[in-house]
Amino acid sequence: MKKISATLIIFGLIFGIMLCGCVNKANSEGITQNTNTYIKEVSFSKIGSNESKHKVKNVILLIGDGMGVTQAYIAERYKQEVENGNLVILTKFKNKGLITTYSESSEITDSAAAGTALLSGYKTYNGMINMKPDGSIPKKTLGELAKKMGKSVGIVTTTRITHATPASVYAHVKSREEEDEIAEQLLEFEPTVAFGGGLEYFIPKDMKDSKRKDNKNLIEEFKKKGYVVVFNKKELENIDINKTNKIIGLFAKSHMAYEVDRENIDKYKDQPSLAEMTEMALKILEKNPKGFFLMVEGGRIDHACHAHDAKSEIMDTIAFDNAVKVALDFQKKHPDTLIVVTADHETAGMSVGTGTEYYANITALKNINASIEYMIKEISKNSTKENILRLIKEHWGIELTDDEKALLFKKSPTSKINDSYLLSKYPKINKYVRNWAGFALSEIESRRAHIGWASFAHTAVPVPVYAIGPNSEIFNGFYDNTEVPEKIKEVWG
Ligand SMILES: [Zn+2]
Repeated sequence: MKKISATLIIFGLIFGIMLCGCVNKANSEGITQNTNTYIKEVSFSKIGSNESKHKVKNVILLIGDGMGVTQAYIAERYKQEVENGNLVILTKFKNKGLITTYSESSEITDSAAAGTALLSGYKTYNGMINMKPDGSIPKKTLGELAKKMGKSVGIVTTTRITHATPASVYAHVKSREEEDEIAEQLLEFEPTVAFGGGLEYFIPKDMKDSKRKDNKNLIEEFKKKGYVVVFNKKELENIDINKTNKIIGLFAKSHMAYEVDRENIDKYKDQPSLAEMTEMALKILEKNPKGFFLMVEGGRIDHACHAHDAKSEIMDTIAFDNAVKVALDFQKKHPDTLIVVTADHETAGMSVGTGTEYYANITALKNINASIEYMIKEISKNSTKENILRLIKEHWGIELTDDEKALLFKKSPTSKINDSYLLSKYPKINKYVRNWAGFALSEIESRRAHIGWASFAHTAVPVPVYAIGPNSEIFNGFYDNTEVPEKIKEVWG
């Protein structure tokens, strides 16, 4: 294996010692072998106990992209204090497990390698979707297996439908960047339901907003295959379910809006929520007497964390939890349904509490009604000081302190970060926070709530798995992310 850094080896050794209590070969294969041996030893739950009374017909896999324990817990605390409620993912699932997330090329996975692990059950290099580094495809995806069993397949996400996690249901590519190709593979795969963003990869190059490199019109191709095609919430609500056997809904040019924007900014209100998409998907999928496999992704929890935008993270996690609630309600009426909720990795090392104080104030984010992404877009249209302060007052409901103003106006708000300290610490920081205003706003927001961030990228901490339904006790324990689809296959028989 190439590109194994000394750091990875050291991490691998520590990991190996922690897991096995012994030091094996200090190479990358050693890391994988040690971990896998351990996983086999601790993955104790097998089918056969009390919850097995129903056979599994339907499987709903819900993935919160970047949703580690902290991401869910902060949303839970916010929901308790502001909305007087609880997250169903933290309170309604009896069976819980913890999974490792490392990829074949790194201790820290990206969403493509993690999607491959969760949907196909094997490790690959970061950036690759359902393919090994040598180009081989050792296993079918859960989506492909469901189709082979005569079941319907649904894919619902808030990101582009061609983005890494949803693509892991149906695509095989060497690079997640090949979104033109991924869109064509979706057409070839023919899911029963596909809802998300990403219209730009389905319309010809000559059309406004297209990102395709050719003039293929995939929307027309879907129509030729008998698909109902919808582009907004109203069209989605008005479909005739009896007459709809296959449907694709593309509700945004690129990713769909953050939930905090969808709820509060007029121009995004024509987009359906993740829960609404999930509900409609289930109505269409349940028509198949052989059952279905549905993957639902809360895809922008990750994006909010990359940008250190805590309020957007909270609102997208609550929106994801609302989709889980829709799945749970369905499961109550259809007990032959297994629900598995997990994450592909944690993003940004989010923490409740930071610095030296024993203090956090999550409700300080209560009045923030627009994402940093939206604020940056508005600031780029008019970056005068008065306009920026007006935007903050209007959309964030706060008056900045003198210290916060000093930070925000220390540099030109629309400039790339040229702060030598930050650049030396985080060379790619502009990729995540876009410009100085993006960085300063994330600092202001996080400092007010005392929310901390260890990284701008993903982290390697294990993530939880929550399961309910027939045989869901086999998801208890500590194991590897590649075991998740294996366990689903086991309950499918
Ligand atoms: Zn991800």
